[in-house]
Amino acid sequence: MSGIVDVIVIGGGPIGLAAAINARMHGLTSLVIEPRTGTIDKACGEGVMPGAVIELAALGVHPHGRMIAGISYHDGTRTAEHRFASDAALGVRRTELHRALAERAAELGVRVEHGKVEGVEQQGGAVSAHLVDGRTIEGRWMLGCDGLHSTVRELVGLAARPRRVRRRDSRRFGIRQHFEVAPWTDLVEVHWAPNAELYVTPVGDSEVGVAVLGRRGTSFEEALSSVPALAERLRDATPTSSVRGAGPLLQNTTGQRAGRVLLVGDAAGYVDAITGEGLRLGLAEARAAIECIVAGEPERYDREWRRITRDFRMLTTGLVVAANSPLRRAIVPLASRLPRLYGRIVERLAR
Ligand SMILES: Cc1cc2nc3c(=O)[nH]c(=O)nc-3n(C[C@H](O)[C@H](O)[C@H](O)COP(=O)(O)OP(=O)(O)OC[C@H]3O[C@@H](n4cnc5c(N)ncnc54)[C@H](O)[C@@H]3O)c2cc1C
Repeated sequence: MSGIVDVIVIGGGPIGLAAAINARMHGLTSLVIEPRTGTIDKACGEGVMPGAVIELAALGVHPHGRMIAGISYHDGTRTAEHRFASDAALGVRRTELHRALAERAAELGVRVEHGKVEGVEQQGGAVSAHLVDGRTIEGRWMLGCDGLHSTVRELVGLAARPRRVRRRDSRRFGIRQHFEVAPWTDLVEVHWAPNAELYVTPVGDSEVGVAVLGRRGTSFEEALSSVPALAERLRDATPTSSVRGAGPLLQNTTGQRAGRVLLVGDAAGYVDAITGEGLRLGLAEARAAIECIVAGEPERYDREWRRITRDFRMLTTGLVVAANSPLRRAIVPLASRLPRLYGRIVERLAR
C-alpha cells in the first residue's frame, strides 16, 4: 500500500476491524490505528445476536462460540423466556472475536499500525491522524471506531455536552468475569437483582461469562451474592478471567459525521448494554459507513445511523428508565405475563 490510504480506521476493536474489512471488500485500502497489541479483550456480555452473526458471516468472519437459542429473564420467583424464531445467536469470548476479525483483516491486506490518535486535521480532500508518538497518517476518509470514550468524537466536535446529572451515581457501568463451568442453559440468562442486572452467557463447552450492569461502585461479588441461585451454581467454579469493567455507558453525540470523519460503533453514541446488542448495531453501522463512502454520499450516513439505531435508542432508553424507577420490580413479572410482547421486543432488538 503506497501513498494516501482510502480509509483510516481509528480503533481496532471489533467494529474498527469490521469497518476495515468492509472497506477492503469494496476495493478500498484501509489502515487501522490501535494502541493495544496482541489479542484485545473488553468487558462485554459476549452475546453475539443473530443479526450480528449474519453481519460477521457476510464479512467472512466465523468465530468459534456457543450456540445461544434465546434470552430469559429471571427475578428469583418468575421467569420469562423467548427462543429466537430463526437463526441462533452465539456466545463468543471477546478474545476469540478479535482473533477471527484480525485474521480476516490480515487476509484481506488491512494494515494495522500501533499507536494512539491525539489529533485530527481535515484539509481539502484529505484527513490526517496525528499520533501520540509524533507520526501523522493521511487518508481520504476517517472512521472513528475508538469506543465509548472516543477521542475522535471529541476532536471533531461531535461529543454532546453531558446534561447536568442531578444524581451523578445514576450513571451505569458494566463489569464482567468468566468461570470454568459447563453451561446449564442454551439461553442468555438475565437475572434482575434489586440493584443490578446479571447476564450469564455460555461462551464455550466449559465456560460461562457473567456481566453485571449497575450503578457506579457496583461490586461484582455483591451483585453475584444478590442472586443466590446463580452464586450457588458458580460457588466451586474457577474464575477464568479477572474482573474487567467499562463505562459510563451512556454517551451522547450531536451527530455522526464531521466532514470526512464518520463515527461508528460505540464512538457514534451509546445508550446502555441492557439489551446486549452493541455489536450488531456497530457491525451494521460499519457496513453503512463504507457503503455511503463508496456511493459518494457520506452525508447520507447520519440518516443511516439513525435508522439502524432507532429501535435500540427507543427500547433501550425505555428499559433503562424503567430499570432505574420503582417499575423495576414489575419488569420480569410483566415479561412473564406478556410472553408475546416480550418475544416481539427480543426479536426486534436481536436483528
Ligand atoms: C458490560 C457490557 C456488556 C455488554 N454486552 C454486550 C453483549 O452481550 N452483546 C453485544 O453485542 N454488545 C454488548 N456490549 C456492547 C459491546 O461491548 C460494544 O458495543 C462493542 O465493544 C463496541 O465495539 P467498538 O469496536 O465500537 O468499541 P471497543 O470494543 O471499545 O473498541 C474501541 C477500540 O478503540 C481503541 N482506541 C481507543 N482510543 C483510541 C485512540 N485514541 N486511538 C486509537 N485507538 C483507540 C481501543 O483500544 C479499542 O480497542 C456490552 C458492553 C458492556 C460494557
